[in-house]
Parts: sequence; structure tokens; C-alpha cells
Amino acid sequence: MKEINVILEKLGITGINHGVTTGRSGWQGGGALLESFSPVDGRKIGAVSQAARTDYDRVVETASLAFKTWRSLPAPKRGEIVRQMGVKLRENKEALGTLVSYEMGKSLQEGLGEVQEMIDICDFATGLSRQLYGLTMHSERPQHRMYEQWHPLGVVGIISAFNFPVAVWSWNSMIAWICGNVCVWKPSEKTPLTAIACQHIIQDVLKESDVPEGVSCIVSGGRDVGEWLAQDRRIELVSATGSIPMGRSVGEAVARRLGKSLLELGGNNAIIVTPTADLKVAIPAIVFGAVGTAGQRCTSTRRLIVHASIFEEVKNRLKKAYGQLKIGNPLDPTHHVGPLIDRQAVLQYQQAAEQIRQAGGTFVVEPGIPEGDQYASGCYVSPCIAEVENHWAIVQHETFAPILYLMRYSDADEAIALQNDVPQGLSSAIFTNDLRDAERFLSFAGSDCGIANVNIGTSGAEIGGAFGGEKETGGGRESGSDAWKAYMRRQTNTINYGTALPLAQGIKFEI
Ligand code: NAD
Repeated sequence: MKEINVILEKLGITGINHGVTTGRSGWQGGGALLESFSPVDGRKIGAVSQAARTDYDRVVETASLAFKTWRSLPAPKRGEIVRQMGVKLRENKEALGTLVSYEMGKSLQEGLGEVQEMIDICDFATGLSRQLYGLTMHSERPQHRMYEQWHPLGVVGIISAFNFPVAVWSWNSMIAWICGNVCVWKPSEKTPLTAIACQHIIQDVLKESDVPEGVSCIVSGGRDVGEWLAQDRRIELVSATGSIPMGRSVGEAVARRLGKSLLELGGNNAIIVTPTADLKVAIPAIVFGAVGTAGQRCTSTRRLIVHASIFEEVKNRLKKAYGQLKIGNPLDPTHHVGPLIDRQAVLQYQQAAEQIRQAGGTFVVEPGIPEGDQYASGCYVSPCIAEVENHWAIVQHETFAPILYLMRYSDADEAIALQNDVPQGLSSAIFTNDLRDAERFLSFAGSDCGIANVNIGTSGAEIGGAFGGEKETGGGRESGSDAWKAYMRRQTNTINYGTALPLAQGIKFEI
């Protein structure tokens, strides 16, 4: 594993790393050390010191102070700094992508893809820094002008999940920065090193641009540090990505203090396959959606709703495709399926398989734990497919593993009802060549998800669109389109340039 050591060195990751930083300097947090083990081979990669409450408070105070300077920088100048961060990410793409793959367990291609997404969002944010447009309206009063403008919020707290350990931070922070906010990031405790590596990559840009301490902060730690952010009135917006129970807890804590939250939570994503679907396109999309990242994407395909007339054919084709899957070290490009994040996730996969059997499900492709030296980390599982019923408790729940549920339908309304009949509402797709089926699926009476696709799968998204989902997925939107508005406060302004004081709605008030 010499290569990994070279990469760690390039990214400034040592045995024990400073887990608390205000951007230009980091320090050893007073909390316990957090060790990071690779799910690829079980090796300990390094450790990070966690933030104690005093560290956390010092970070938030520094960030609050930095906000006063950062917000006064013109937005295009902030955009220029973000552009330079994109340049640094380009220079470090190979190294950071490899560390993402090694610490999280996704394929190298996906690790590199995640860094590419960070680069893309830097470009997007740079352009956006010149387009934070407000509106003007016509006033009902003479010699009055009305308009609305957008101001930065202040300190934005970012809580991120393990499965996109770096991209989610960049979706939030790059946009939040150009909007004039400062950011405090609480990365996943399962992937602490990739976060520190990000900070090292952008640190020179912060220094060279003379950006004050506190614009880009990290507070390493677990759930308790996330809770501090959620409860802290100094954090104007908490953007939290993770499981539904986490979102419920964060959402409630932030709502209690009437703060702003942006929630990006779990999915339970379905693909509908209609009789006219082109299976040459549909089958690879289904397989990639279900087994890519070992089923650990919020947009992973979990449910497949297939028309009865083609059910057997789809089932057989999937069986054949699953038979060809190679499970193993994700840094080896010949492997399709890497490990789950840790042994706890393997246990949850096994428990889910057991619950499927108990509910009466039948496995089309059996679950299992592969054996052999290359699986010694104990984090690898075999992707499986089960015939199930949609209303079963286990099917209604997101299991973060490569388990695909198979169901049949006989008419289009039934397919849409099945697709919508889960508590989550993130991503959805239909494979069809029938214009009516496609349009019905995309209409108000169709998919109730934040993402609805035709002839592409549920998994993955481009940064240009607003990303997020409905219902228990949390309702937040990040990344492209006008998602930037969540990071700003709207102000309506009315200016009287006349010499009288006409009131709105024709109200007369004379003294
Ligand atoms: P998780 O909920 O266990 O942890 C996510 C983050 O929240 C971590 O940083 C964790 O420390 C923190 N956290 C946990 N409980 C908290 C609490 N009560 N208060 C404050 N912070 C808390 O999730 P995970 O296992 O890391 O990630 C997998 C989940 O994330 C899946 O459900 C997946 O669907 C979801 N996810 C959603 C999106 C999206 O954009 N919708 C993207 C990626 C992942």
C-alpha cells in the first residue's frame, strides 16, 4: 500500500491530524481521537482529533467575526476565490479521488467523479457570483420604486454523510461562500480524513487571497458536534445531509429556535419499466443504480416496478447481469462492487435480508457475504434481488446496501401509486418509449419525488439542477438552478423619491 502513503503525504495527512480548523490554521481538538479504517482492506489510515465544546465555540466565534469581512467583499471577488479553489482541486483530483475511494470504499472512478463534481460546482459558483439577481416590481404608489435583493445569512453549518464525503460539502460551501456566508463543516465521523484533505487543498488559496480566519472551518466529531450546530443560534442555516432520523432530530432542534434548515435525507427510489421500454438501456441503468457504490447512494435504485408482460424477461436479464458482477477492491477498475462502509452496515444488510424472508419475500439473486483474503475487512456483501410487496415494512424503509426489490404492475396508475407509496421522495425514473406514459409520470399526477427521470436511472445527478427530495427526504434543494436562494435572506425595499407620503391600499392618514 505504498501508493496510498504517497497520496496521504501529498494531501498533508499524517498519522494524527488536526481535526479543528478555522481555515488558515488547524489545531488538535480537545476531544478523543477518531480513527479512520479503510473498508477496502481494514487498514487504519490515520486519526483525527475531535472538537471539544470549547474548540467548537472558538471556531464559531472566529467564523462570526470573519463573516463581517467576507460579506463586504464583492460577490464576483468571492467567486474569483472559489474559482481558484477549483484550480487547486483540479491539481489534486487524482489524490483526493483516491483517498475518497480508499476511506469510503467507492470505486476509484466514482471517487474521481466526486472530485470532478466539486470542480464543476466551483465553476458554477464562480459564474453565479455575478448572477445573484433580485427583482424589481412596479409600486402601486406614485414616485416609488420597489425591488428585492438578497443578502448573506451569516454562519452556515454543514453536516455531511459518509457516502459523498466531499462533494456534499462543496455543493454547500462553494455556493454559500459566493453568497457571502462563512461555513463550519461537521464531516461524517466515518470519513474524517477526506475532510481534512479538502481543507489542506484550499488552504493556500485562503492564505494567498488574504481571507480572514474562519471563512472555511471544520469541527471534526460525531453526532454530539452535529447537535451543537443544530442547537446554536449563531448558526443561521444548518444544511444537513444524512439519514431520516438524523434529519428529524436536526430539523426539530433548528425549528425550536426558529432557525433555517436545509435537509437532504434518505431516499427509497424506484424505477418503473413499461412494456415499451428499451431493455438495452434499462437493464444497465437498473444494475448501476442498484449496485453502484454498493447501494450506498441516496439515489440508489431500491425498488423496481415492472409491467407483468415483461416481468419474467426483466427478471432473467437481471439475474444474468448480476451473475457477471465482480466484487472486490474498488481501486481495481475491473471490480463492479466495493465494500460497505463498515461492519455495522454489513449487519444491517444481513438483518434486512432476514426481514425480507420473514415477510415472505423470495430471493431471485441470493444475498451473501463473499469469502476470501481479499474480503478480509469484513465489509463486502453480495448484491441481491428479492421479489416483494411494496407495503412491507422492510420495503418502506431505506436499507443502505445493494438490495433491489422487484414488483410487478398491470396498469400505469398502479405503477405510479406503487412508486409514490413510500415515506421518502428523492429520485424516480420511468423507462418507456410511450409518450403518454412518460408525460403522465412527469405530470402533477405522476411521480411525487424531487427528481423524476425518463429513460435514465435514479442514481446520480448533474450539478446544474436543484438536487433534493420531498416528504421524509426533507424538502431541501442544493447545488444548481436557484438553490442558492436558501443561503441568502430576501429583503424587499421600497423607496419614495417624491415629496408626498402616499400610503399603500389608498389609506389616508392626515395630521
Ligand atoms: P447519518 O444520519 O448516520 O449521519 C450523517 C451526519 O449526521 C454525520 O455527520 C453524523 O455525525 C451526523 N448526525 C447524526 N445524528 C445527528 C444528530 N442527531 N444531530 C446532528 N448530527 C447528527 O447518515 P450516514 O450513514 O452518514 O449517511 C447515509 C444516509 O445519508 C442515507 O440515509 C442517505 O440516503 C443519506 N444521504 C442523503 C443525501 C441527499 O442528498 N438526500 C445525500 C447523501 C446521503
